[in-house]
Amino acid sequence: MSRECAELYELLDAYVDGELSAGECERLKSHLVQCPSCLSEYERDALLKALVRRSCQCEQAPSTLRAQILTRISTFATDGQSLRATTVTTVTDVE
Ligand SMILES: [Zn+2]
Repeated sequence: MSRECAELYELLDAYVDGELSAGECERLKSHLVQCPSCLSEYERDALLKALVRRSCQCEQAPSTLRAQILTRISTFATDGQSLRATTVTTVTDVE
């Protein structure tokens, strides 16, 4: 992980929560488009947050759905290539 990656990694969580300043957002976004490993981290974070929000809204996600999603997330971790496409699919399923 480069030094820039390490710095931006610290910002990811706040970014997903929409808590970054405009300048920090721009910096992070311009890094994400050129750094697949940070993009993977970001997408996984965003997916998890979406899940958390969803389970707050309707008590609990069905446990089978949650298990499916967790399985897919752990698959992403070992298969960065398919992360983006699979994340989109999962989010669509959840909606
Ligand atoms: Zn990076």
